[in-house]
Amino acid sequence: MLSAPTLRRLTSITVFLDSAPGMRGGQPAEERLTAGTQLPTLVPELQEGDVRLRVAAAARDRAHALRARLTELWALAAEDQAAALEAVNALLAETGALRLVADADGAVDLTPAQTPADAVERLTAMAALALAEAALEGELDRLRTCAGEDCENTLVDASRNRSKRFCDAANCANRTHVRSYRARQAEADEETAAPAVEPATAAGDEPADAAADVVAEGQPKEKAKKKDKDGKKSTKSKKKGRKKAKKKGD
Ligand SMILES: [Zn+2]
Repeated sequence: MLSAPTLRRLTSITVFLDSAPGMRGGQPAEERLTAGTQLPTLVPELQEGDVRLRVAAAARDRAHALRARLTELWALAAEDQAAALEAVNALLAETGALRLVADADGAVDLTPAQTPADAVERLTAMAALALAEAALEGELDRLRTCAGEDCENTLVDASRNRSKRFCDAANCANRTHVRSYRARQAEADEETAAPAVEPATAAGDEPADAAADVVAEGQPKEKAKKKDKDGKKSTKSKKKGRKKAKKKGD
């Protein structure tokens, strides 16, 4: 099991990693880390402890480089333990000497012997120690990349049965379920469509409705309400769904 502080730090690191430009929850996202001074906002854990944090705007490029390294590590953590360990070792080497400290409750933790003031160095050390703990606990496979289509978000699977596959940020689980539901329905339509036109159309209405319901379920209340009021919109999406299904069936 990962300790609570380690889980919190790893989760914070995913926020740092997901600041990179790329596909996020089906949408292209721009660079969000445009100045080194944003680091304490992205990773509040950097301000733990009593050594003052120094954040320079010029740290941006070094932060980007660290982010790329950690993103790569995240991608291979579950697949290639040897490579992941090597990457963690490199981070540990940069962290330098370590020491054991006990907190007020007597819980013992490893920290850098000298807490770096520089934000990127401190983030490197934080990542190195959190990842080392994950490796020691046999939990590296909890570091994942979202399985949602067009989503590169990273995540830490803290679930009991290690079943988390989608990020929380972008409704990815719901998007993917709707998509596979439609694909299955399109296949079913293909089987029944050939002999009779009418039943196929009727059958086409149902899945689009059900799919729209699934979407509404996962959406914020506001949007669901809007859909209820605006009958046109839901008809439109129904048509769209049907059109899509037909197109696939062709
Ligand atoms: Zn996602």
